Amino acid sequence: MHRFPSPLLDGYRNFMDGRYIEERERYRALAENGQKPQILLIACCDSRAAPEIIFGSRPGELFVMRNVANMIPPYEPDGHFHATSAALEYAVQSLRVKDIVVMGHGRCGGIQAALDPAAEPLSPGDFIGRWMSLLKPAAEQIQSNDVMTASERQTALERVSIRNSIRNLRTFPCVSILEERGKLQVHGAWFDISNGELWIMDAKTGDFRRPDLEEVVSEPEQDVVAPPDA
Ligand SMILES: [Zn+2]
Repeated sequence: MHRFPSPLLDGYRNFMDGRYIEERERYRALAENGQKPQILLIACCDSRAAPEIIFGSRPGELFVMRNVANMIPPYEPDGHFHATSAALEYAVQSLRVKDIVVMGHGRCGGIQAALDPAAEPLSPGDFIGRWMSLLKPAAEQIQSNDVMTASERQTALERVSIRNSIRNLRTFPCVSILEERGKLQVHGAWFDISNGELWIMDAKTGDFRRPDLEEVVSEPEQDVVAPPDA
């Protein structure tokens, strides 16, 4: 029998009984005033690396784009179907986000495929193979490094891939111009799904390190709910 997935219906019921009640006003205000997220987060499709869960975001806070292995292709205005570039264009040009975060993660299946020279196409279209070829030069270099173990090669390419995406991000004129004017910042992050660790990329060196969470200065929350007399 054709049936809508029951985990979704169960989850939706919980949402309406709990989170939605807490966020009702916020949803209403966001519907009326539109969204103004300040952050574009680019993450993998992997079910274990959901940004809204990791960062505990509220509705309207994160503009999220997910694709296989959280990659950004280079700027190619060639009339083809560019879903990733379209989301990026909208976030930067229309929403005017202040920050772009490219977040990779451990045990990424897309990265694993890129490191496997024997990987066969999953279908005649070989969409994943074509998509992961964005990483081909880096993948080939890391593949040929026999001093590293397989898991070290995997983590290395996951992080190289984040820097590669950031380099491609900057080939989009809207990104590089706003970044130069100090209106936009680009960041890298890597999430270890096995232990919940988040690693942040150093903007100067490209190295990844654990953030000092004690140092974080919280900014006042963005007000999406208009005061009653407004
Ligand atoms: Zn992944």
